[in-house]
Amino acid sequence: MAKLKDSVRYCKGIGEQRAEALHKLGIDTLEDLLRWFPRDYQDRSQTVYLDSLADGDTACIRARVVSQPVLNRIRAGMSLVKFRIADDSGSAEVVYFNQPYQKNQFAVGQERFFFGKFKKDGGRLQLQNPVSEKIDQAGLVTGRIVPVYPLTSGITQKSLQTAISTALNSLEEPLPDLLPPGLAERYGMEPAAEAYRHIHFPETLEQAHNARQRLVFEELFTLACALGSLKGQRRVRPGILFPKPELNAFTDTLPFSLTGAQRRAAEEALEDMSSGQAMNRLVQGDVGSGKTVVAAACIWTAHLAGYQSAFMAPTELLARQHQGTMEALLGPLGIHTVLLTGSLGAAARRQALEQIRSGEANLVVGTHALLSEGVEYARLGLVITDEQHRFGVSQRAALAEKAQSPHVLVMSATPIPRTLALMIYGDLDVSVIDELPPGRQKVDTYAVQESMRPRIRRFAEKLVKEGRQVYIVCPMIGDDEQKSADLLSAKELYEELRDKVFPTLRLALLHGRMKAADKDKVMNAFAAGEVDILVSTTVVEVGVDVPNAALMVVENAERFGLSQLHQLRGRVGRGKHKSYCILLQGSDSGDASARLSVMASCSDGFRIAEEDLKLRGPGDFFGNRQHGLPELQIADLASSLDVLKWAQEEAAALMRADPELNTCPALRQRVKRMLDAQIGA
Ligand code: ADP
Ligand code: MG
Repeated sequence: MAKLKDSVRYCKGIGEQRAEALHKLGIDTLEDLLRWFPRDYQDRSQTVYLDSLADGDTACIRARVVSQPVLNRIRAGMSLVKFRIADDSGSAEVVYFNQPYQKNQFAVGQERFFFGKFKKDGGRLQLQNPVSEKIDQAGLVTGRIVPVYPLTSGITQKSLQTAISTALNSLEEPLPDLLPPGLAERYGMEPAAEAYRHIHFPETLEQAHNARQRLVFEELFTLACALGSLKGQRRVRPGILFPKPELNAFTDTLPFSLTGAQRRAAEEALEDMSSGQAMNRLVQGDVGSGKTVVAAACIWTAHLAGYQSAFMAPTELLARQHQGTMEALLGPLGIHTVLLTGSLGAAARRQALEQIRSGEANLVVGTHALLSEGVEYARLGLVITDEQHRFGVSQRAALAEKAQSPHVLVMSATPIPRTLALMIYGDLDVSVIDELPPGRQKVDTYAVQESMRPRIRRFAEKLVKEGRQVYIVCPMIGDDEQKSADLLSAKELYEELRDKVFPTLRLALLHGRMKAADKDKVMNAFAAGEVDILVSTTVVEVGVDVPNAALMVVENAERFGLSQLHQLRGRVGRGKHKSYCILLQGSDSGDASARLSVMASCSDGFRIAEEDLKLRGPGDFFGNRQHGLPELQIADLASSLDVLKWAQEEAAALMRADPELNTCPALRQRVKRMLDAQIGA
């Protein structure tokens, strides 16, 4: 008998290599295995007759082996095993490519289930590489509703199915039921143990559906408890009192005057910091609305009170850029900024750490590196995170722990539907910057077919001749394999443009897999106007500020979410020049025009996000973990908003009665794990 924490190696058939492959999916223990949920099901519970099959059908049949399997080695490294099968209606040939061992798996006269794809050529029916089971041993890969799991290389559906079946059948302890006693029954939901069995081995699709709903509820309930406990911690936070300075003393040093909305946000933040309570404020504003200067006002306030600030950005690129911006805004006011990122050399890092520890650094700008061990602040009083959707809720908490109740300011350009906002930011006060700095022009946006590419390239050249700069962005989306392919095409495009299309212009390539120092070099060159056309993957999506850039061309725009396109578009139109965004639709993009045309007619980030949600469904919008919530295994946030609300109410009720979750040890443990996983990222 096995335990939940036993290694997946317990399962017959999971050796070192498969265990390694499973590890890549985050599956190490039997519990992990059972919490790896099917993404779909194939109904193989019904068999059909051979004579009813057409070319291309995928089906389950019950048939006898009627000829001895024969192995042919066609040439080196290529073999075929062939034999014939028959049922009462007809016969077919079975072929296995490059699986010579299959020769010994079948004996004449055996009755078996086969499942696979049929080819029909003339009257001849062929079944290629089917899965198969003897009639009396059926029930794993044939003769039932078979789950389809997300895979990685080195793991097949069958090996996962077998392992999960072993795990389910040999565990001596049940999977923990996270719901408090009585809750499941109250709503007629099955116990967790049954839900796990039914989601992996359903007898009907309805059973599978109910099991999924049960586990979705459980997960959202856990999430709600986790967020609830974070908020619980927050309530008891007296804060450092910063005397409230006269905001004008800061704004008078700026080359522009604040918009009304910026001023309001800054005043609210200054008010918070002088209240005696710790500030927990979200500044939400569309791209280009000028959030950075609000942050600067807060840093200045902290400095006047004798405190350090930490400013965390999601990428190195952005951290460097913020460092530059802050030096320009705050250097003249005597504020010394240091940069701390993962790519600093050992000596530079040591120096930065020393300055942070001694207090010589008044402001530290950096990436996740700010969270790492060994970073000690002399007097940290304010923590700011930019583009917070990239950070987990509890990363924010981790940074805050670097000091005693520092003030926290969160800046986000991500518009999120209200229900979710309440959940994610429920612990924050919100300032909205709903006004753009004056003189901003609308970015003219066009969604066009690929056939327009030559014209667009001429247009790009014309703008460059006028002194402007251009972004050309290629997709970099999806899993690792897809990303490698995307990267290759970005490189190819860059080389083609450089050598053939714009031989006289200065081009550069930027992508996320470059070394940080190289990225900086490219970005700095672009910002300094030494590069005319920057070919880039989506690394420029967030925050980068080059006012001279006036054209953004997005290749294969249909592969992006609208909100992402909106962020990309925010990279142009940041200066005084008339700016354009051109969305090129790939040739095999199907019907993306309607979706992309939303971009042309609308420049309001919130409305675009809503459209995105309506048109593409939630999966994409909430993909890429943009919401900053812990990663969920089974629930899909946006499509489960109603369940979420209900789970939240139940969680709130539980936490009122039992804030420490003492009555639900399994739940408490999972909540802790959920939060820890966030910080560890
Ligand atoms: P975001 O909200 O996207 O982070 P930024 O803070 O990067 O926006 O500001 C975008 C640009 O607008 C910057 O170049 C900044 O200097 C400029 N800016 C900010 N506020 C004002 C203002 N009140 N008037 C004019 N320009 C401004
Ligand atoms: Mg910004």
